[in-house]
Amino acid sequence: MRGAVLHAPGDVRVEEREDPRILLPTDAVIRLSATCVCGSDLWPYRGIETVDGPSPMGHEYVGVVQEVGREVRDVRPGQFVVGSFFASDNTCPICRAGYQSSCVQREPVGGLGAQAEYLRVPLADGTLVATPELPPEDLVPDLLAASDVLGTGWFGAVAAEVGPGRTVAVVGDGAVGLLAVLAARQLGAERVIAVSRHEPRQKLAAHYGATDIVTERGDEGVARIKDLTDGLGAHSVIEAVGTQESMMQAIRSTRPGGHVGYVGVAHGVELPGEELFFSHVHLHGGPAPVRRFLPELIDLILRREIDPGRVFDLTLPLDQAAEGYRAMDERRAVKVLLRP
Ligand SMILES: [Zn+2]
Repeated sequence: MRGAVLHAPGDVRVEEREDPRILLPTDAVIRLSATCVCGSDLWPYRGIETVDGPSPMGHEYVGVVQEVGREVRDVRPGQFVVGSFFASDNTCPICRAGYQSSCVQREPVGGLGAQAEYLRVPLADGTLVATPELPPEDLVPDLLAASDVLGTGWFGAVAAEVGPGRTVAVVGDGAVGLLAVLAARQLGAERVIAVSRHEPRQKLAAHYGATDIVTERGDEGVARIKDLTDGLGAHSVIEAVGTQESMMQAIRSTRPGGHVGYVGVAHGVELPGEELFFSHVHLHGGPAPVRRFLPELIDLILRREIDPGRVFDLTLPLDQAAEGYRAMDERRAVKVLLRP
């Protein structure tokens, strides 16, 4: 089969890879209907994360089940399924508490390479959620968004304790930040302040329900958010970048007693203990337990109540994955969908 492989920073190639097959009785093999490039794929692509030899890429996926191992009970060949970037058993105490991305049996799907024609999914019964029937073609991008960026933005909002009457700020205008705006509105936020300086992204944020746009970053951004909130800061702030600057902007934009939900993969972030002590801010985040939210998100999509697939502003055949990476790296595209 064909699949994307990162050979070195800036060097993604679509090449022949071995066909995945059932290795464990709890596995499934799916034929991918769509996959995509993640903001987090850009960390190794840019050489900020080291690459140990050629690495299969991709961890966002929807597709049709081809084959299941003999212990798989709930998922059947022919079903359309959505999974997330950590395989999880969905039965251990950590999963049952809603933290499937820290499952005691978790396995990162990124290492298996979902930017491909086929994918082996470990722990299929716990990891995959099937739609009641094959979804209409136009909903496939929305369902693909649920696999990571929507689920991650949603977790950011939940971790930030978004709810009715709350003022929410979102730091980061990538696909996760934009879908955190959507999640905040769905969860009842009264006011959503999006931080973005790029006009097309500002428009999408407004489409998803942002009521205010702040273009400044860092301490100037903090001052603008304070101006908009009677000098207090937001109740809930979602951090969707992962840098020192974005994390500090999120913490300093939150009012005492408020909550930060951080879902940008942290790179080189160090928190000042004394400032944190006196801030009275709650911090919660990490790799999103997307699996917790998948049934609800799939339902909202199938009822056409949300349209998270609008974050895909470029669709390419899988064979052009290298151009997809370039477009995202240069911020010419918010998010790139790949068609195997
Ligand atoms: Zn588990």
